[in-house]
Amino acid sequence: MIKAVVGANWGDEGKGKLTDVFAKESDIVVRYQGGNNAGHTIINSYGKFALHMLPSGVFYQHITNVIGNGVALNVDAFVKELAALKERGVPQPTIIVSDRVQIVMSYHILFDKLEEERLGKGAFGSTRSGIAPFYADKFAKIGFQVSELFDEEWLSAKLDRILPAKNTLLVHLYGQAPMTKDDLMAELKRYKEAIAPYVHDTFKFFQQAVDDQKVILLEGQLGALRDPDFGIYPYSTSSSTLSFYGPIGASLPRPIDEIWAVTKAYSSCVGAGPFVTEIHDEVEAQELRKRGGDAGEYGATTGRPRRMGYFDAVATRYGCQVQGATHVALTNLDVLGYLPEIKICVAYETDGKRREHFPNITRLDHSTPIFETMKGWNCDISHIRHYDDLPVEAKAYVDRLEALIGVPIALVSNGPNREQIMARQSK
Ligand code: GDP
Repeated sequence: MIKAVVGANWGDEGKGKLTDVFAKESDIVVRYQGGNNAGHTIINSYGKFALHMLPSGVFYQHITNVIGNGVALNVDAFVKELAALKERGVPQPTIIVSDRVQIVMSYHILFDKLEEERLGKGAFGSTRSGIAPFYADKFAKIGFQVSELFDEEWLSAKLDRILPAKNTLLVHLYGQAPMTKDDLMAELKRYKEAIAPYVHDTFKFFQQAVDDQKVILLEGQLGALRDPDFGIYPYSTSSSTLSFYGPIGASLPRPIDEIWAVTKAYSSCVGAGPFVTEIHDEVEAQELRKRGGDAGEYGATTGRPRRMGYFDAVATRYGCQVQGATHVALTNLDVLGYLPEIKICVAYETDGKRREHFPNITRLDHSTPIFETMKGWNCDISHIRHYDDLPVEAKAYVDRLEALIGVPIALVSNGPNREQIMARQSK
């Protein structure tokens, strides 16, 4: 049984919480793309954690956590996060790392930072974790696969090929000091030593896991609208955020049985790029921001305030379609309890034309929202444990979102904690 938990929007939809809820009944939790450039917030009996590099199954002893080949592995972040779990009393999790995953080098992070600085106002809003330079090198065939770390001669020859090109950019484009081969060999050696105990042939591992009928959870990072092909390129990330990439990035070439797209009851977006339903009135935006999530809507990795908006049904329907969602989990419904009326964006107006299908980037940039307004429920719903006990206005809101999205909303989350989640039967 293979399940995927993926984002329907721009990220930060609450995937971490859902993965944590599903992890209980899973045998394996896999990260299959992205690096430590985003974070999942998880709140459980050990406390509150922001995971960036580790899969969300690390709080359960029965789970094997996998870092798949599609990930951008930052070894230092991996080691630091594991140590932080230990420090806070979480027992050592079982974790394996694909021998085909590639390593984020310190120069990827450096180039990311230098390029954003060079672009100035035109920067992409990168988290400066080295993700774009990392994936660029992977596909230019000059990245370092974990398996290569174990062959010094191989590494030495590869560095001889790579270094002159990197240093030319460093010195002549960015005006920095060049890197030395010795330093880079030492860096690679340090990574090898840190990661060696975790390295596995994860392809073989998954062949066996499928034969043994294990329950496997694919954990997506960011959301559909950050996908390089289907998202808001170039304000996208550099690896596919889609469920269908999951089996590739995990080394598990099998169809997915259930695809859970996660979306919030309102919209939020970190970083640059068009965001049609954005609330531009700062007082109104701040009201929503401070109530959102478990401690306000601020990036789990960067601490940046998230841009806030009303529910964007155009973007979310599209997000669920490109994810191939079979189910939707709606999170943060509790957050809207302060509003007497709630707006939903049901269509866009682009250059004078009503549009219900999510447009390409240049049209998106001149789209404005067409709203519909619903009555709010105006009370706290975070203590409710059965969907039927919700106020009628809250249920009507969820029904409307489901009709607009076109995929059954099967779970509704009304608070950041594990027990604040309710099953829902579709109409
Ligand atoms: P992810 O990257 O998709 O896992 O999302 P983040 O962890 O970055 O952001 C989601 C935020 O919402 C976190 O602060 C969660 O603790 C919080 N959260 C998740 N579900 C709910 C919910 O139903 N209600 C509230 N109030 N917060 C939630």
